[in-house]
Amino acid sequence: MLDRYPVALALSAFALAIAGRRLFYLYSMVRAGKPAPGRLSHWRRRAEVELAEVGGQKRLLRWRLSGLAHAFTFWGFTILLLTIIEAYGDTFQPTFHIPGIGTNPIVGFIEDFFIVAVLVALIVFSVIRLVYDPKRIGRSSRFYGSHTGAAWVTLALIAGVMITLLMYRAAQTRVPGDFPYSHWAFASWGVGSLFGPVSVATARAIETVFIDVNIAVIVGFLVFVVYSKHLHIFMAPINVAFSRQPRALGALDKTPDMDVENLDADTVFGAGKIGDLTWKQLLDLVTCTECGRCQSQCPAWNTGKPLSPKLVIMDLRDEMFRTHKKKSLGSDTTAPASTSTEATGGDSAKAKSAVKAPLEERHLVPEVIDPDVLWSCTTCGACVEQCPVDIEHVDAIVDMRRYEVLIESRFPSEAGLMLRNIENRGDPWGLGAAKRLEWTEALDFDIPVVDDRMPEEVEYLFWVGCAGALDERARKTTQSIARLLHQAGVTFALLGPKESCTGDPARRLGNEYLFQMQAMQNVETLSATGTKKVIASCPHCFNSLGKEYPALGGDFEVIHHSQLLGRLVADGRLRPDRFDAKVTYHDPCYLGRHSRVYDPPRSVIESVPGVQSIEMHRCRERGFCCGAGGARMWLEERIGKRVNLERMDEALGTGADVVSTACPYCLIMLDDAVKERQRDEEVSVMDIAQVLERSMAPARLGAASPASPQTTLDDSAGSGAEMVPETGSGAPPGGPAPEQPA
Ligand code: SF4
Ligand code: SF4
Repeated sequence: MLDRYPVALALSAFALAIAGRRLFYLYSMVRAGKPAPGRLSHWRRRAEVELAEVGGQKRLLRWRLSGLAHAFTFWGFTILLLTIIEAYGDTFQPTFHIPGIGTNPIVGFIEDFFIVAVLVALIVFSVIRLVYDPKRIGRSSRFYGSHTGAAWVTLALIAGVMITLLMYRAAQTRVPGDFPYSHWAFASWGVGSLFGPVSVATARAIETVFIDVNIAVIVGFLVFVVYSKHLHIFMAPINVAFSRQPRALGALDKTPDMDVENLDADTVFGAGKIGDLTWKQLLDLVTCTECGRCQSQCPAWNTGKPLSPKLVIMDLRDEMFRTHKKKSLGSDTTAPASTSTEATGGDSAKAKSAVKAPLEERHLVPEVIDPDVLWSCTTCGACVEQCPVDIEHVDAIVDMRRYEVLIESRFPSEAGLMLRNIENRGDPWGLGAAKRLEWTEALDFDIPVVDDRMPEEVEYLFWVGCAGALDERARKTTQSIARLLHQAGVTFALLGPKESCTGDPARRLGNEYLFQMQAMQNVETLSATGTKKVIASCPHCFNSLGKEYPALGGDFEVIHHSQLLGRLVADGRLRPDRFDAKVTYHDPCYLGRHSRVYDPPRSVIESVPGVQSIEMHRCRERGFCCGAGGARMWLEERIGKRVNLERMDEALGTGADVVSTACPYCLIMLDDAVKERQRDEEVSVMDIAQVLERSMAPARLGAASPASPQTTLDDSAGSGAEMVPETGSGAPPGGPAPEQPA
């Protein structure tokens, strides 16, 4: 059909030229980023993730309705690539079919099924967008701040592709020999029957019009996609392929070399300008779909703060486009582009030519990202966990914090006290090493304190952590854990005054230098004692010791107390008796999302006869932060509702008698919140170790086991509500700690 192909081919060539130019522009922009080590290894694992997350739409399907709609659209687009081949073939030959499979009735059925499925999915997307229209419901919509107009254009274009495809196939059914499929292609034949009696010439004319329009809409969509957020159609599989493995949670991505010998005048720590981001971080920016899943889970956004992980990504993306445009046009002739030139590594001549042009980059903070946005983050990881295209928000936020702290010396004033305390006294409260063994005074058995080497007969080093050793409420948990371990016959020792802060709060705040000082000192101490196995009760210590210290020479097997207690119960070495209570469990972010430890704490609680376990709505992967992570425990919370109150309100809504957790930070934050709500008379905040011990106390009181500590019920398992802090946490949520004398 000579009247079809000129239009189709001309349009296609024009669109491909525009799209190709745009894709090359995007490529050169991403290549201008700094190196991102480790993204080109573990290809087997990357292939598995690609299959699961892109092919299987695993993350999207966590949200059932929109996930299913997206999955059908994705699979539809994949399958319907066949129909694009058929459309181009039909422009040359009306009876064209794909050799081998082009007349198979099953292929015809599948194509029609997905045309219909995509149309249904579009209706679902439209309803979701109307129900969650940000113009109507404001910031509670996950689409708040997204480009909603572009989303409607996208839906309209996809509908256009499907409708024109269906129409030309329907017209083909009216011309004997043109349509290659039997009646299994139900939708095509069904719509074709609606045409009524038409002549072959008329049917061919309709077919020609709709084939050309179909190709025009497809290539128009292609151009629109590469200029809009729907770029993710191409970028998502690439971004997922280069994502941090096994996930962008737990340890931070980078451990910069802080050795002064290796620093020079050009060394930049963190990200102060867009050119300081790695190519993977820039790829993240062009991949964001603006779906707002991250925003909907963010504890800062959900409590009225200005931080939205989606808007952070979008703002950085706008800055990237703005600066790259400047570079490409060479509109600013005031500064050399040395940083970006280095970043290309000389691999791309085109990228080089782009970055040789002058720079005009703004400071990310405060010119692109407001300081209130930056410091609101608790590094809880909910955004990373939810993002369907594997964007790594936490690393980008901490990189910006690093620049602010290490290069600009700008951070919330109250954080200075915490940093000084860690540096001078070895703990965030500044209470000092001498107090680290005070919690053992309430025990009626001795625990070895390692002076030189770990005793041969001792299996574990119990890393108590600053809160566990120094905060009165957290000390009760530490005592419970110690008694339970002792009762189960687990051998363990303490570092006592030799233990020092792991540096986690300093690192999350951006003070990488202090973190590395603390880490190297602790690695040296642990290595000198010959420690191999560590029990950590604080998930932040658990994360640092186990996942971050290896980058600085640490090599220890680290187990969280919930894992060990779960094992001891399963092995019958601890036998819960009875505790009649409704218990809800709050997932600590650094134990749950960051470390994937969801079941062991629950198994401990559920092992206790009499306990009725109730889940909060936001639990496990979707657990809601307590507000303490990311060093927020030591920062004022001046904007919006306090995160710990939001979480406690949810916990109280379950009707639980006990809000349990497995982190001293969470315990302190939740205990403060239940008191603030004046519900501490009826609701207790307890660590899972305290729940377990509470159930065992009556049995132990009557037991004559030599391993049993001779403690009273009240001593052994006091709830958070019964505990009166002596020193306090030193940092009540919303208030800084008093500085301790040096
Ligand atoms: S890490 Fe948590 S607080 Fe920070 S942006 Fe992500 S969801 Fe929000
Ligand atoms: S960062 Fe991820 S979750 Fe957030 S809007 Fe973008 S694509 Fe969606």
